[in-house]
Amino acid sequence: MDIELLTIGTELLLGFTVDTNGAHIARALAAIGVRVVRRTSVADTPEAIRAGVAEALARTGAVLTTGGLGPTRDDVTKVVVAGLFGRPVEFAPALWEALLERYRTLGRPPSASNRTQAEVPRGAVVLPNRWGTAPGLWLEGTVDGRAGLVVMLPGVPHEMRKLLEHEVVPRLAARVEHAAGAGEQRVIRSRTVRTTAIPESTLAERVGDVEDALAPLTLAYLPGLEGVDLRVTAWHLPAAEADARLARAVALLEARAGAHAYGVDDDDLAAVVLQTARRRGVRLAVAESCTGGLVGGRLTAVAGSSDVVLGGVIAYANEVKEALLDVPAAVLAAHGAVSEATARAMAEGACRRVGAEAAVSVTGVAGPGGGSEAKPVGTVWFGIHADGETSAVRHVLPGNRFEIRARAAQMALYLLWRRLAAGRD
Ligand code: AMP
Ligand code: MG
Repeated sequence: MDIELLTIGTELLLGFTVDTNGAHIARALAAIGVRVVRRTSVADTPEAIRAGVAEALARTGAVLTTGGLGPTRDDVTKVVVAGLFGRPVEFAPALWEALLERYRTLGRPPSASNRTQAEVPRGAVVLPNRWGTAPGLWLEGTVDGRAGLVVMLPGVPHEMRKLLEHEVVPRLAARVEHAAGAGEQRVIRSRTVRTTAIPESTLAERVGDVEDALAPLTLAYLPGLEGVDLRVTAWHLPAAEADARLARAVALLEARAGAHAYGVDDDDLAAVVLQTARRRGVRLAVAESCTGGLVGGRLTAVAGSSDVVLGGVIAYANEVKEALLDVPAAVLAAHGAVSEATARAMAEGACRRVGAEAAVSVTGVAGPGGGSEAKPVGTVWFGIHADGETSAVRHVLPGNRFEIRARAAQMALYLLWRRLAAGRD
């Protein structure tokens, strides 16, 4: 079954509200095998809503809307949709009673405008809203000689989610199952292989021509600040077959990405670092200059990190690199703060001062100022001390200050992870 999403609200077009409803609904429908073929956002005007719904019905025959069901003047969705179906909007006494009851529990009287929320297009199924005042509506009929389904949900995200889960997903799932025949529930399901420290194009060369091997699954490259996610999706397969094919695809992609693949789905690299350190009985320290605590923040954001992470130093100023990490003044004078020698000394100093077995250090130019020809903005040195040995590596990371810092934190975790993984147990 195919459906379109129409999110209604001028605030979405102005960019003040991010369309989280669209993303949430798309994920929830994929899980039951309903394919979202288009997402559109329109303003709160009757013309925009009418055009949006009519076009979606003409193309796809089914549309789910959010927004514009409230009691105010910009809430016109149901009137416009009723008009498209050639249906009047009628006052529903039972719905009004339920609304009055809700206001009695809230301890305040409804305002005059709330009465419009008890009006329903003739023939619509009311999807009761126990989490707010605007009920959802399920309207089926004929528009321009073609069968159409319009499901209307309120815009307020938590109400929308509840109605979706309790009223809409079960109805749509029943339809999908009915269409597929008994015993064969089809799903749209995705798995993700998370990679890092490898550019998208290099990764694509490594992964190579896998489309045939993955078919009928599809593959997407999704680059972000933490790396490139490889997402494979199974479309409309029976659940067991989807899972089996996805598992094989994940294994194949992990093999191709090699050591750059650090996890799957929602895995966080910081948690992977902690697991590896824990397995080896290694406790960790951090020494951070340009990341200003981001690495320590990532590690300690993981529940249970306290058995592995001892602590660290935000050594932003040279004085602090000297005083708290024992970076020799002569090293800073000769090589500068952003240098191999400083990164090494920072990692060793962190281990010694904190009493840890392994440490990672980060020192770089996050910009926008401070770059030079020899050390352009984005230049970052990383030091790793583990198993009694120190190493350092330099990377030039792309992006603005925020992006360089985030990428540097991820790279620090990656380097620490690889070093711990390669170490002797
Ligand atoms: P409405 O039902 O149109 O009155 O929307 C009520 C509130 O829900 C708006 O003020 C927004 O803050 C929020 N909202 C509406 N549409 C969306 C959407 N697509 N994604 C996230 N929030 C939304
Ligand atoms: Mg609105």
